[in-house]
Amino acid sequence: MKGYGVIKTDQPGWLEKERPVAGPLDAIIRPTVIAPCSSDTHFMHGGAGPMENTILGHEAVGEVVETGELVRNFKPGDKVVIPCVTPDWTSKYTQLNGKRNAHDHGMWGSFKLVAAKEGTFAEFFHVNMADANLVNLPDDVAPEAALMTVDMMSTGFHAVELADVGFGETVAVIGIGPVGLMVTAGAQLKGAGRIIVVGTRPNCVKIAREYGATDVVSYKDGDIVKQVKDLVGGGVDKAIIAGGNAATLTQAISMVKPGGAVASINYYDTADTFSIPAPVWGLGMSDIDIRCGFCPGGAARIEKLLNLIQYGRVDPAKLITHRFEGFDKIEDAFLLMDKKTPDLIKPAVFIKW
Ligand code: NDP
Ligand code: ZN
Repeated sequence: MKGYGVIKTDQPGWLEKERPVAGPLDAIIRPTVIAPCSSDTHFMHGGAGPMENTILGHEAVGEVVETGELVRNFKPGDKVVIPCVTPDWTSKYTQLNGKRNAHDHGMWGSFKLVAAKEGTFAEFFHVNMADANLVNLPDDVAPEAALMTVDMMSTGFHAVELADVGFGETVAVIGIGPVGLMVTAGAQLKGAGRIIVVGTRPNCVKIAREYGATDVVSYKDGDIVKQVKDLVGGGVDKAIIAGGNAATLTQAISMVKPGGAVASINYYDTADTFSIPAPVWGLGMSDIDIRCGFCPGGAARIEKLLNLIQYGRVDPAKLITHRFEGFDKIEDAFLLMDKKTPDLIKPAVFIKW
């Protein structure tokens, strides 16, 4: 089968691979809508270490073409939403950690597409434990909206969960790419009062306001800590990192009040080192929690996110700024994501077989 991915670090391209085979509990899917993620471009540039001969992609909505003999809830022809994280639900980590289910047999273990097998930018891809990890696409949810639940919404909302945003709180959202925009929407749904976002791209700023941002700060206009503290004297209750670099963690801690929390779902580079001056963190006695996480997966979570779309609580399809048609256009969409033109938030590719 054909797929698009990393030939070697910094060299994306088309690859020829064996079609995957379903084990007894698994399913084989044909993608019908896919989206590249910032993480796919990080992988291609070696941001998770050297990578070669791997099909990329972990965001997809598709159609079941084959199921293993023990799969009960799905059959060929079913239209499904595929979480980008598909835990092994027999693992003790998964059993004990509930919503933080991304690390089934070790760090990022539940992130199997791309990391442990070929990704979704392929004619076919494999999903482990289909009954626990696949979700039927509801008739009244547009496939492109459903596609935004599998990573963007799940990751963004996870950051809001990690920060434990409460009614009336003041929240800073650092980074308003597609993930930060979902953080913004999630913070509003959780009842945040003031939401201060950090970012510059005009269409992201516009959508951030639609998702509930009350104030916008640009990191290009100087120190964001000073700008946020000029707005909120004592600092914010929660700061959530969805963009920036290793130094952003120090900035986030610096803008949070004692007793508050910093949550990060950002992807730092393998070469990064965190260096936090002790006074910033109250010499270790600030009662400021630092929490980080990876996108949670599984069917039950994605069903809940789809429910928010079905009942009009959030429209994540607003993130899609560029639409492509045809399997071969995966390349154009991926290269656009890599170039990240100022007007881009999220591209999606619609595939007819
Ligand atoms: P984008 O690159 O689209 O957005 C990044 C945002 O950060 C933009 O708003 C950008 O501003 C802003 N930014 C850039 N530099 C700085 C800076 N120095 N200080 C403050 N803000 C800055 O990324 P995505 O939304 O696609 O993803 C966000 C992060 O989440 C990525 O690192 C991605 O890899 C990661 N990710 C993590 C997952 C997880 O499970 N943990 C899952 C999916 C993604 P501007 O408006 O100027 O562009
Ligand atoms: Zn991703």
